[in-house]
Parts: sequence; C-alpha cells; structure tokens
Amino acid sequence: MNNRDISSKSTRRDCSLYIHIPFCVRKCRYCAFYSIPASVEIQRQYVSAVKRELAMTAYKQSFDTIFLGGGSPTAMTESLLLELAMWAGAKIKSGNEFTIEVNPGQTNAELFKKLKTTGVNRISIGAQSFNDKELEFLGRIHNVADIVRCVEDARKAGFENISIDLIFAIPGQTTTDWKHSLDEAVRLAPPHISAYSLTYEGDTPLVRALAAGQIEIIDEETDAVMYESAMDTLETAGLVQYEISNFAKAGFECRHNLRYWLNKSYIGLGPAAAGCYDGKRTENVADVQRWLEAIDAGRFAYETQQSLSAEDIACETAVLNLRTRFGIEPVAFERQTGYDIQKLFAAPVMRHLNAGLLEWHEGRLRLTRAALPIADKVLCDFAAI
Ligand code: SF4
Repeated sequence: MNNRDISSKSTRRDCSLYIHIPFCVRKCRYCAFYSIPASVEIQRQYVSAVKRELAMTAYKQSFDTIFLGGGSPTAMTESLLLELAMWAGAKIKSGNEFTIEVNPGQTNAELFKKLKTTGVNRISIGAQSFNDKELEFLGRIHNVADIVRCVEDARKAGFENISIDLIFAIPGQTTTDWKHSLDEAVRLAPPHISAYSLTYEGDTPLVRALAAGQIEIIDEETDAVMYESAMDTLETAGLVQYEISNFAKAGFECRHNLRYWLNKSYIGLGPAAAGCYDGKRTENVADVQRWLEAIDAGRFAYETQQSLSAEDIACETAVLNLRTRFGIEPVAFERQTGYDIQKLFAAPVMRHLNAGLLEWHEGRLRLTRAALPIADKVLCDFAAI
C-alpha cells in the first residue's frame, strides 16, 4: 500500500459504492444486522429498486471500489445476483476492487465462474470458525467442509484475492480451539483474514441466552489472549496487520474498507445501507417494504440523515484513521479536515503518548501494539472535541 494512495484528498470524483443485500435464509444466533428471508419476487423488486436508487443520486461517474455485502448476497437466486453484479461491475473504474461477500453454505464452482464474468475480483468468505460445533452454536448454515470447498472453488474460478472472516471469543471456545481455527484458515492461504471478537448487540438470541444465564461470556482477559494469538499467528504467516481486525499480504488490503477508514465518500444502496456522500452521513430504513415504497415513490429511504460539521468530519477522520496501522498523517489530515491534529486533540494525544498507547511512526500518529486490544478505550477520546 502506497502511503500517498491512502492519504489523497476525497473529491466528488472519488467515491465508492456499497450495496446492502438484506437477505438471509436464516438468522445466525448473534446477528443484529438487518436481513430477512425473501421470495424471488421481492428479490426481483429489490434489484430493480437498487438500480433506481443509484439513478436518484445523480452520480454518473465510475466508482473507486464496489462492495456487495449483506445479509448474504448468495441468498439471492443465482440469476438475480448475477444481474446485480453485472450491473454494478459496469460501474467500476477499470481494474479496481469489486468485492462480494459469500456464505460458504451457498456457493458452488459454477457460481464463482459466473461471478468472474461480472467483474467481481475479490471474494470475502464468512467462514467464522473451523470447528463444526462452534458453527452450530453460532447458528451458521455451513460447516467446515463447506469453507474448504468454497475457497477451492473460488480459486479454481481464478479468484486470487480471497478473504476469510473469523470470529473469536465464542462461548465455550478455548484458546486452543481458537488457535485451531487460525491455523486452519492460514493453511488455506488466503491473502486476507479478518478476525473479530463475538459481539453481543441488539435483541438477538445470543443476547437473550446470556441474559437468561444459559451461556457464559468469554472474560476480557481470555478475549485479549485470543486477540494476541490472532496477531501473532497471522503475522507469522506473513499477513500484516493493517487495521485493528484485518490482516493481509502486501497489496491485498481491502481497498474498499481502507476508504471507509480514510473517511472517503461512499454511496450506500439498499435497505439499512449507510452512506457518506456530499458532506452527509445517511442510513437507509432497515425494512425492505418501506425502502421499496420510498424508492417506488421516487424518494430516498433515509432513516437518518446527518449533515456533518467540519468538527464532526475531523473527529470521524481521526477515529477512522487511527483504526489503521497507517494511523494519521498530519499533513493529509489537515488537508482533508482543515485541522491540525496536534492542536485539535492536544490533550488526548499527549496523554496516550505518555501512556504508551499512541506513538509516532514514520511521521504518522498511530496506536501502539499494546493499545490494539483496548483500541476502543483510546479512540473514544477522539470521537468528540
Ligand atoms: S449470514 Fe451474516 S447477515 Fe445473515 S444472519 Fe448470519 S451473520 Fe447475519
């Protein structure tokens, strides 16, 4: 990753596209994202409305990166998914990153071959664990054999840029279990791996089971040990940690997500999709029917819409930049936000430098390795002035 690339100023001609596909055949136990099972007719209406929603933005240029996420894009019928991917693929700058998230229980060799023809060039696989019991606990619809087959099929179709998502701190999981998942993921040699601690959010069956005393949360200390284990194992495997939860071989960092962390513009399409465009942060209503009704009536389906002040943008940019191992480059930060990082955040910068949680590295302010497991505790000091 060229430092100049990640610090260039965002302009109107510099925008990414996120399409939220809000369909899943079944909810996973821990999932607080908006997704529903949907009939073919609803999927058809959805694809048509996504196209109209983009037309409503009047954005006519090609996108820097495109991400089809969810939900489960692969929960759609193959023909509708390919129609959507083909339509999106025609809107990306030549050779740029076009990712699709796939559920390993819903892919086959043919699908990958067809996706290859749409311009998709990055596959993000929601593997989560290499232990069938953990997958069952999480309520996933796939097993370990599905993950292995999914990676093989994607490779055979010619996809090189493959990412595997993993979850740790699953109730009942030991540090040895987690190391097994890490080692199995590494054995498949994807150039990108993400590792997230299980979160307890919203009104999910997992949260309810915890409240009822049916499961026990992994304690903070063990969670930190598991995170350290991910950092050690993945770095040893040649995957460099470039963000709190993301590791990649050189050149395989997720460019779409890097743009989020650089606080660059992106348009979000689909129910529950977030966007940040033209100085506004928006979030679409998390309801397919209401979203369809709004688009059919020629209206945006925003649930929330926030105009960002210069201070908001500076705070967001600081927090997002600090998530990455590139950190904040002061000149680029000032060019993007109009603020001097050392003046704007003088007190927290000094405090965390003294505490060994921030450091200057090659002219950039970044979290130290010791701060990574407790990153949120540092970042919250940059969330507001
Ligand atoms: S597949 Fe993903 S989006 Fe769908 S229910 Fe499971 S975690 Fe949620």
